[in-house]
Amino acid sequence: MTIGRMEVIYYQCERCEHWWIPREVTMEVPDDLPKVCPKCKSPYWNTPRRETKASKKPPK
Ligand SMILES: [Zn+2]
Repeated sequence: MTIGRMEVIYYQCERCEHWWIPREVTMEVPDDLPKVCPKCKSPYWNTPRRETKASKKPPK
């Protein structure tokens, strides 16, 4: 019997907060990150929400 403790990489989507563990379990961040979130399919899953120039609120 072995009792081990390990930390693995998991990803969390910035859009839907879904988190998942990559197919290949690793302890280091791989170079090739997933392209989309497996749940919401957003390609911006790893891009934090920020106010961009495009979403500028119109002045009152
Ligand atoms: Zn998502």
